Amino acid sequence: MENLWNDTEASKHKGILAERVYSSRLLGANPNLVLHGGGNTSVKGVSRNIFGEEVETLYVKGSGSDLATIEAKDFVAVRLEAMLKLSRLEKLSDIDMARELKLASLDPNAPAPSVEAILHALIPHRFVDHTHADAIVTLTNTPDGEARIRELFGDEVIVLPYVMPGFDLAKLCAEVFPAQATPRTIGMVLMNHGIFSFGDSAKQSYVRMIELVGRAEDYLNRNAALSSATEMAPTADWSAVPELRKKVSAAAGFPLLLRSETSSAALAFARHPNIAAISQRGPATPDHIIRTKRLPLLGRDIGAYAQAYKDYFEKNSQSASTPLTMLDPAPRVIIDPEFGLVSAGRSARDTQIIEDIYLHTQDIILRGEKLGGYQALGEADLFSMEYWDLEQAKLKKAGAPKAFAGEVALVTGAASGIGKACVQSFLNRGAAVVGVDINPAVGLLHGGRADYLGITADMTSADAIREIIEKTIRHYGGLDMLVLNAGIFPGGRKISALGDDEWRKVMAINLDANLAIMREAHPLLKAAPRYGRVVVIGSKNVPAPGPGAAAYSASKAALTQLARVAALEWGADAIRINLVHPNAVFDTGIWTPEVLQQRAAHYGMTVDEYKRNNVLHEEVSSKDVAELTAEMCGVLFAKITGAQIPIDGGNERVI
Ligand code: ZN
Repeated sequence: MENLWNDTEASKHKGILAERVYSSRLLGANPNLVLHGGGNTSVKGVSRNIFGEEVETLYVKGSGSDLATIEAKDFVAVRLEAMLKLSRLEKLSDIDMARELKLASLDPNAPAPSVEAILHALIPHRFVDHTHADAIVTLTNTPDGEARIRELFGDEVIVLPYVMPGFDLAKLCAEVFPAQATPRTIGMVLMNHGIFSFGDSAKQSYVRMIELVGRAEDYLNRNAALSSATEMAPTADWSAVPELRKKVSAAAGFPLLLRSETSSAALAFARHPNIAAISQRGPATPDHIIRTKRLPLLGRDIGAYAQAYKDYFEKNSQSASTPLTMLDPAPRVIIDPEFGLVSAGRSARDTQIIEDIYLHTQDIILRGEKLGGYQALGEADLFSMEYWDLEQAKLKKAGAPKAFAGEVALVTGAASGIGKACVQSFLNRGAAVVGVDINPAVGLLHGGRADYLGITADMTSADAIREIIEKTIRHYGGLDMLVLNAGIFPGGRKISALGDDEWRKVMAINLDANLAIMREAHPLLKAAPRYGRVVVIGSKNVPAPGPGAAAYSASKAALTQLARVAALEWGADAIRINLVHPNAVFDTGIWTPEVLQQRAAHYGMTVDEYKRNNVLHEEVSSKDVAELTAEMCGVLFAKITGAQIPIDGGNERVI
């Protein structure tokens, strides 16, 4: 385990909170220590209140932040004395504990303190670090895990049996820690959960974490080294994934994205001879159950999985003191010998996180198998975590999801103008968006966001279109909404001077490419959980052509007719196709200030008059068209297909 501590860097961080931020980020930088919000840290100090009095203070990670990117403001200052007093209570529900933690905060606007805050307060060292390190949970999740931990760490580490995080765990620590701690104690292992390290400086506490986890890693490398997976490739026909997504979404009751991971490691795990047994023993640390559910789905029988989940809920919820709300019964992890690891989530970020967690879980399971057999917590313990009061309370507080959460939109011509604006409008509504353009700038939009995939492609190539479809499936599992926007508008030319090449080029891009992508996308749209939608960006030139634009006008008119026929043919599959006919949208690449000036002068108008030269005297922007396009994929247009809507501020020839 690499020690990332750097004295020069560290010395730039002045004050205990800044030091705390520095070393927390070092922990967060190593995914084998801290994965997506797991783990937490704290530091104890003194703050001064408004009366000038000194207050013993615990600065503990607030909930909702991630150690990898944590900042000083993400730590909550709480009264240390209040924490210690709480630990002396005989009983406290976790809901009441969460309330008391908020009350102990010194800033009413701070986030809620970590539910492990009392535990941090109880450890009598200035700096406390806590992780769910892979190597530690690998060891604890084996039949003789406790013996191995004790053999490895001796009296340097206190070992606590598994108790659910929250007040009960704090209470146990309050009893065990003072009784067992010696001057040699530098850490504490929580069985089936993780590890704490502590010290008087940020460096000491961090280095001890690295040292302890490093020892566990060395032990694993000696006794349970992972063989590197042999090169493997997916054998699947990707067209099966949208169907799978439809079924998973039906079980959930709302659309989910599917992300496929086909690395050799994922495929080797999915094809493991004993996969049926080893994949069905539960998550590595209870923290993961909220995201991954208790068990992955093996194979594709989603109905049986959902039924088993309902039975598990029925059985375990009977002993709950208050009625529990059942979570949706759809799987979040699917292990498939053809596609590898498939993760299901309401957002692209969720699917990435679930995939990361499960890739780590796979390694933990495989190593556990080499140490006598991987074993997770029992069903009842895992159920208590999944249906924790605090998680149930979060469910009640959660607002309605965004309109297109869990859905996928594909926009052509996405690098600029109306297409670029459409990408934004769909992202704003919670969709994952695939943007396609021949301009490579499309790949650089929305840098690194999980819910955006930019593909540079020439849509006149059939191979390119098949590749777009496959990438869309691998990243997001299917397609719900298709926006056909890509098109070209060559300079004005009269028919008498219009060459065949120019005519064919315009037809190839504005018409033929759209036929090809509609044909390839049809099976995906048919499998869309809330039925497919297509919006075609037509043109005012369809109802009201102008001289000098024969190829463009004819291509858009033909595209309109193609869309109308598709509306007739695809209605049986509940796919809706509508058109918008924009006019005079000037905030696009073609309309440079010079061109605008020229055109305005040609009509004897100012640029502003020219832009508003319509019945309503309103300028129409790319965003206006994009917002209409997105709304046409929403519930407002649920019963409309084959419609053509002008968006042009009112044009006398169209009206
Ligand atoms: Zn923890």
